[in-house]
Amino acid sequence: MIPFNKPYLTGDELARIHDAVMSGKISGNGSFTQWCHKYFMQKFGFEKVLLTTSCTDALEMSALLLDIKPGDEVIMPSYTFVSTANPFLLRGAKIRFCDSRPDHPGMDEDQIASLISDSTKAIVPVHYAGVACDMDKIGALAAKYQLSIVEDAAQAIDSYYVKGGKKKALGSFGDLAAFSFHETKNIQCGEGGLLVVNNPKYRNKSEIIWEKGTNRSAFFRGEVDKYGWVEVGSSFLPSDMLAAFLSAQLEHLEQIQDKRRAIWEQYNERLKPLENRGFLKLPKLPDYATNNAHMFYVICNSLDERSRLIAYMKANGVSAVFHYISLHKSSYFQELHDGRELPLSEYYSDHLLRLPLYYELTEADVDLICRLIHNFYV
Ligand SMILES: *Cc1c(COP(=O)(O)O)cnc(C)c1O
Repeated sequence: MIPFNKPYLTGDELARIHDAVMSGKISGNGSFTQWCHKYFMQKFGFEKVLLTTSCTDALEMSALLLDIKPGDEVIMPSYTFVSTANPFLLRGAKIRFCDSRPDHPGMDEDQIASLISDSTKAIVPVHYAGVACDMDKIGALAAKYQLSIVEDAAQAIDSYYVKGGKKKALGSFGDLAAFSFHETKNIQCGEGGLLVVNNPKYRNKSEIIWEKGTNRSAFFRGEVDKYGWVEVGSSFLPSDMLAAFLSAQLEHLEQIQDKRRAIWEQYNERLKPLENRGFLKLPKLPDYATNNAHMFYVICNSLDERSRLIAYMKANGVSAVFHYISLHKSSYFQELHDGRELPLSEYYSDHLLRLPLYYELTEADVDLICRLIHNFYV
């Protein structure tokens, strides 16, 4: 059986964890956490980052930092994971879901303006499949209406937004941004995340919320001579053992990314003839987006066709899986939704199919998967 995902281990993880354990200090914000922080700042140009226990936690920190309150409205795509919405609902916000783009499952930037009201506080773009949203359009709206931006960059590690010859890492556009290192992502530590703090206004407060409402981080830097309770906060920092695991992955980031991109390109080349003959559709990337090869998907012509393709692949030993049920149609949220139809979001819920993509997937595996899809259609 070719699984949909297989978390990659570089082989260095246990040695790093051993080092962390032997150092005698495995609580949060230890030397491996500091190493990871430095890595993200140097590699992607982020000015302030904090490791978290998940992307969900980084988004919960974001909702706390923006001081989201009951009655506030937050705009985000419906075609996303529940963790984009939950952190804002926990603070009492009202979610206004935006439809997807015709050419891509990401949110349709041109529909955001129609969702903005006097109560709107933030826009939460999700870089679906690691593909950038149009951050110029979203940035202009945020500036015009004085809204905050929180990027859900869970899938977007090592992906960039390119305009006017300049390349900027995703995660550096929002006031805040959140990455995931869940084992289904390109770089993983089982469960893990990162908060990027781009707006300097949130720098101090983010550290305080991270460390249970205390100024412990400033104390360890020698900036204050004792630490205490200065804000309402929580515990969002991971054990240094998790950071040690993550550091082993980060040391191999380029190798992992090269391999994933090669697999993605092989899928794209092998399936292009089927797209040209009108059997299915392949991913389209806007010209300002780079490809971090987080995901390879195909778009079928109908829900029934997709179900039959999934069954055919499964019968032949390949696990291919669909993705999100639109959040506005979920059993939890459908009663809370404002009733607008979001036809493109539902289109991707019913038609999109993700193919296996992981480091150890071989060329022969991809060949087999593409041959199966070819046989199914032709
Ligand atoms: C994976 C994912 C999350 C959640 O990440 P965790 O680290 O599991 O909390 C949130 N949003 C999107 C778009 C994701 O893909």
